[in-house]
Amino acid sequence: MKIAIGIDIGGTNTKTVLASEDGEALLSHTDPTPAVTEKGSDRIEDRLVANLNAILDTPAAKKVVESASEIAGIGIGIAGLIDRKNGRIIQSPNISAVNNVPLRGIFEKEFSLPVVLENDANAYAFGEKWIGAGKEFDNFIVLTLGTGLGGGLIYKGALYEGPVEVGHMTIVPSGRYCTCGSYGCLESYASGRAIVDRAVSSLEKGTDSMLAKCCEGNFYKITPEVVYETALEGDNLSREVFREVGQFLGIGIANLINILGLEAVIIGGGLIGGWDMFIDGLSREAHKRAFKLLSTDVKILKSTLTRDGGSIGAAGLLFHSIAGRSDETPS
Ligand SMILES: [Zn+2]
Repeated sequence: MKIAIGIDIGGTNTKTVLASEDGEALLSHTDPTPAVTEKGSDRIEDRLVANLNAILDTPAAKKVVESASEIAGIGIGIAGLIDRKNGRIIQSPNISAVNNVPLRGIFEKEFSLPVVLENDANAYAFGEKWIGAGKEFDNFIVLTLGTGLGGGLIYKGALYEGPVEVGHMTIVPSGRYCTCGSYGCLESYASGRAIVDRAVSSLEKGTDSMLAKCCEGNFYKITPEVVYETALEGDNLSREVFREVGQFLGIGIANLINILGLEAVIIGGGLIGGWDMFIDGLSREAHKRAFKLLSTDVKILKSTLTRDGGSIGAAGLLFHSIAGRSDETPS
């Protein structure tokens, strides 16, 4: 049995799995992503390498590696624009320390293994096609609803190697400021950050809400999970915040359906627990706005991947790339 290492480097946490060829996580590890703001002796790439070495050194990892016939390689997913030719991150909005870092070559040299580097939401989308809710579809988009909003596209059965920055399509002219530098991006209305910003802004204006009493009155301690919990308890503001997330996601999805002619839209990410709070509004809005002919049969589905979806998808991409390389070898 071959295994692959899958790493999902997020703005907050880095998840690492040892995955089997069937997409099973044999070991999974979560660590904080190194917070490095300045380059110098304390480089983020060195800390990521040290982190993986430390994981591989644990008795649990050693046991998995010993039971495997070989480690096929390392798949890495990271938020940002990827230069696939050179295995480099061009720009990562939330982890700026990795900008221009040739992460693929660094990991190849350090671990003497093949490495693939891909955008995190693309890796997640690959995971959905490989072992998730997208198995039976050839044209679908995956939206990852977390701190931000990522997107990955499976087109004609394969991963589309483009930016697919669905979170940065403009939804509201002169709308809220976005971390990308523009205004009115979908991510500023439908993401974990958007949920918190929207709730805090209403509280600061004096809107009556259960949220005002939680977090000891410190609005900056409010998280999307807290908003979800108060929404479940019937809080009007919290419910309204989730209703808006659904509405804006629905508008974005209608645009995507009209442009791409999709069989399915799969939604995953850390905020998927709030599904019941936004799915009805989302679905209504998407079907109301998209061309009937294009939208009638589109399935809007919840991701079936576990919380390790991004890292497992990255491991899957590595297996896929190895298979592609051996196909090219003349026999
Ligand atoms: Zn943006």
